[in-house]
Order: sequence, then C-alpha cells, then structure tokens
Amino acid sequence: MTHTKDLQPRLERINFRDAVFLQSASALNNAPKDTGSEVAFAGRSNAGKSSAINTLTQNKKLARTSRTPGRTQLINFFTLSDNQRLVDLPGYGYAKVPLKMKREWNQHLENYLQRRQSLRGLVLLMDIRHPLTETDEQMIGWASSAGMPVHVLLTKADKLKRGPAKSTLLSVQARLTEYGDLTSVQLFSSLKRDGLRDLEKKLATWLTDESVFDDPNESDTGESDPTDTDSACMDH
Ligand code: GDP
Repeated sequence: MTHTKDLQPRLERINFRDAVFLQSASALNNAPKDTGSEVAFAGRSNAGKSSAINTLTQNKKLARTSRTPGRTQLINFFTLSDNQRLVDLPGYGYAKVPLKMKREWNQHLENYLQRRQSLRGLVLLMDIRHPLTETDEQMIGWASSAGMPVHVLLTKADKLKRGPAKSTLLSVQARLTEYGDLTSVQLFSSLKRDGLRDLEKKLATWLTDESVFDDPNESDTGESDPTDTDSACMDH
C-alpha cells in the first residue's frame, strides 16, 4: 500500500452554497475555535460586502445588506465545512459611529488580523468609484504587517464603463505593489456576477492551502501552486 499524498488541486471542492451561519462574535475572545481555515471580508459600509457574500453563496439572506450601518458591530462567522469558514467583518467608515466606538473596533480588527491563526486571507471590498480610502489603506497596512494576503475586490464595476474600470484596476494595483507581493486585485459586480469565478478561485486557493500546516523546519521542496493562473486577477 503506497502512501500517496493528494497533490491534485482541490479548488473545485468548495461549495460556497453550503455556507451556513455559525455565530456572531463581538471580539476575538468570543469567536469560534481558532482551528481550520477562514477567509474574512472587510470594507467600508456600503462597499457592497453583503451583496458580494450573498452572490458568492447564492443566498440572498446570508449576509444582511446594511440596514443601520455601523450599529451592530459584530463579526459574523459562516461555515462552509467542518474546517472552513467565511467571516463577515463589520463595515467601517460610517460617519455617525462615535469616535470611541471606531477606536475600539479598530483595535478588534487589528487584533483579529494579526492574531487569528486560522485566518488565511482578507478580501477587502472597495466601491470602484471610491477606492483606497484612508481606512482601506490602514487595513492593508495591518494585514501586510501581519503577513496576511489581501485580495481587493473593486465592487459595483458595472457602474463604470470598461475603460475607466480598467484604469482604476491598474492604478489600485500599482498602489498595492507598495505593500509587497501578498496583494491582488480584481473587478467585481454582484449585479452582473462579473468576477465571481476569480473570487471563488482565490478563496479556494486560500482555504485549501495546506502549506500553512507544514513544518517550516522540515526540508521539503514543496509544490508551488501550479493552478494559480488566474488571468483576470492581478497578483504581483
Ligand atoms: P455593505 O454595506 O458593504 O454590505 O453593502 P451592500 O451589499 O448592502 O450594498 C450597498 C449598496 O450597493 C446596495 O444598495 C446594493 O444594492 C448596491 N450594490 C452592491 N453591489 C452592487 C453591484 O455589484 N452593482 C451595483 N450597481 N450596485 C451594487
């Protein structure tokens, strides 16, 4: 009996439609057990985060589209399988939230990005018409200083014509290079479902990445991911 390690890419195995609500948490200390893999979604209120999660999971009700932005500042966890989760972080940047609450939340988010062991990557959503706000940059800064990959979704891409959308994509990509090579960016539209496949591929890569479980001291040449040919995604 040979012991064979499954080296086949397992990107097709995640069924995002299986996502079910697990629990909410007000901070890291009441989050679900920190095991397995999870991917978090963050963005300014109204960036289109709930719509994107609902499009991805094909569940119109999973993530509530923002009714009172900034009021319920909870992290929502959804399970995809026993050891894979999607995480909906509270929207930020809502003007009416008191400063003290904003500061507390910044602290929680920073903690989450820097300490959560099971977190494999951050999907950062930005309205294509207002990309890279100060808080967006702060989030990228926290994530990159924690060595956390960030994938930017330029949402509501259907609101711009192809030319301006492409040039925004290029300028955001140029800015991201300054944060190192763990960043990528793509266009996305929940309305048209554009960019959905690229998002699914990115998430599957993160959620099935077993290299994170490898012992870094073991001398193993390791297989680099040959499937990472995501043409519409701009990695660097
Ligand atoms: P959230 O606050 O980040 O969760 O944002 P929502 O998902 O609630 O979306 C905010 C607003 O943007 C809503 O009115 C949505 O209908 C709209 N929206 C979200 N995604 C898209 C999109 O892809 N295209 C267009 N045209 N509108 C969108």
